[in-house]
Amino acid sequence: TDITELLLSRIRDVADYPEPGVMFKDITPLLADPEAFAVLTDALAEAARATGATKVVGLEARGFILGAPVALRAGLGFIPVRKAGKLPGATLSQAYDLEYGSAEIEVHAEDLTAGDRVLVVDDVLATGGTAEASLELIRRAGAEVAGLAVLMELGFLGGRARLEPALAGAPLKAL
Ligand code: 5GP
Repeated sequence: TDITELLLSRIRDVADYPEPGVMFKDITPLLADPEAFAVLTDALAEAARATGATKVVGLEARGFILGAPVALRAGLGFIPVRKAGKLPGATLSQAYDLEYGSAEIEVHAEDLTAGDRVLVVDDVLATGGTAEASLELIRRAGAEVAGLAVLMELGFLGGRARLEPALAGAPLKAL
């Protein structure tokens, strides 16, 4: 569609970043274009409304840039999920495996409770490890997963299939 074409035209391929053999999708040209950024925000906010979400979780760091305007536009609260050690209050943590080693993400325990329906927003879905850990955090907090909405899905990495159990029928929207 026109929207897809516009968004794709503002994403830059950077070869061999962050390591040799990886083609990184750089969204900074899109963020720098107010028309494309508004189109993106509107489309993700529409996804938020469609899922009946009551809160938006953004994944550090680019999920903050996209998730905050989406939450505002959809009239929902924004909750940051951060890398370990960054949040000052009592947290829930979730570790997950990377290609080499592991990582850990956290959320303020009081930010998500039973009765919340949470939409996770991020820029790129790659292997799905980060999103999977965030869905686990949401469930452990007692909240419900409303869905996952991303700008771009790297289909060849199989993230969608990996996330099927964690999504448990909740929608995965990739623009
Ligand atoms: P995954 O956990 O799905 O393997 O990786 C997704 C996470 O890494 C997301 O938070 C995303 O921001 C980041 N990521 C992985 N590959 C890319 C990429 O090519 N471009 C951008 N912008 N982010 C990426």
